[in-house]
Amino acid sequence: MGYRVTLIPGDGIGPEVTSAARLVAEATGVSFDWDVVEAGEAAIKATGSPLPDAVLNSIRKTRIALKGPITTPIGGGFRSVNVALRQQLDLYASVRPSRSIAGEGTRFPETDLIVVREATEGLYSGVEHWVDRDHSAAETVNIITRKASDRICRFAFELARREHRKKITAVHKANIMKTTGALFQTAFQEMAAKYPDVQVDERLIDNMCMQLVKKTGEYDVLVTTNLFGDILSDLCAGLAGGLGVAPGALYGDTLAVFEPVHGSAPKYAGQDRANPVAEILCVELLLRHLGEKEAAARVFRAVWETIAEKKVVTYDLALPGYTSRPVPASSCSAMAKEIARKVPLVNPRTPLPRPAVVPMAPMADSALEG
Ligand code: NAD
Repeated sequence: MGYRVTLIPGDGIGPEVTSAARLVAEATGVSFDWDVVEAGEAAIKATGSPLPDAVLNSIRKTRIALKGPITTPIGGGFRSVNVALRQQLDLYASVRPSRSIAGEGTRFPETDLIVVREATEGLYSGVEHWVDRDHSAAETVNIITRKASDRICRFAFELARREHRKKITAVHKANIMKTTGALFQTAFQEMAAKYPDVQVDERLIDNMCMQLVKKTGEYDVLVTTNLFGDILSDLCAGLAGGLGVAPGALYGDTLAVFEPVHGSAPKYAGQDRANPVAEILCVELLLRHLGEKEAAARVFRAVWETIAEKKVVTYDLALPGYTSRPVPASSCSAMAKEIARKVPLVNPRTPLPRPAVVPMAPMADSALEG
């Protein structure tokens, strides 16, 4: 019997990247017993609901899930399955590490950041309405509680200690949001007093975005509220090479769900083109969560070496901007097979070189996409 893990393939590119991740997970030799359940569009077709009870019950039982991205209709339609999942399972800590994993180069080689985002309240609380009948004014309520602020700050400090990180920066907008912002700021400052061994500072969200681009290496762990964390983690993913290489994890007190930062990228669905690395690095985080450190290190190393070699990489890693010399793009499944092939062969203990800087000028706009 292997580890029982819930697997949610998801929408769009989800089924392709989750089957890539599954291939790599199985190449580690760690044994898995997957409980595959559908959420999103496939679940609507089968059951009429985008988030059937079977999904929640499976995660409550296995306590751990690997999830693909799920589409959320813009404007109308059903509420986000992703937000509902976080709220219903109380997965309050969204942890999104961004590390530059470049082979030949990257624009921000010193990127090594972890965004810790509160994932159950804030502007994602779902409390919103039209103010008048003509729909000429609307309100979305930003709910910030002391309880949720305390626990996300405590989570960030505990993570910093466990992972030997040097500094935590609280990101807020307490100058303008004098209640919600100030409440989060106070919770952070009072929690910081209990962790005198961890260096702390604070940044306003707008300044933080600029600082991350100008002085990337000066930042480490960032803790923030829901919407700011969503935006910051895409920014950090961009610094580390793009959405195609950005994994994430959601933690509650007893449950954990691993999902990439990226969405379902509908325009690439079914084309075997999407970068599988973000979902594969979710497997690395999942293995670490299970205590399978050696297997996790092998997955990371195999990803690193595959990107460094630039022989079998998807379109986004083959563009100028990620590499100084364009290389032919491979498919999602080919890259996954290459990573899986390397997993048993790599030496996870060899130190990784720091990536070199690629100059800004030749950066193609489309390279930002992946
Ligand atoms: P997206 O992340 O799907 O796509 C943004 C851009 O990045 C696109 O150009 C896309 O083609 C590219 N991209 C994303 N992942 C990639 C990959 N693995 N390889 C190569 N390129 C990749 O964001 P979006 O277009 O804003 O959202 C699409 C849908 O996904 C929406 O319905 C949104 O609500 C949903 N979404 C879901 C999650 C989740 O399930 N956690 C997260 C974000 C967005």
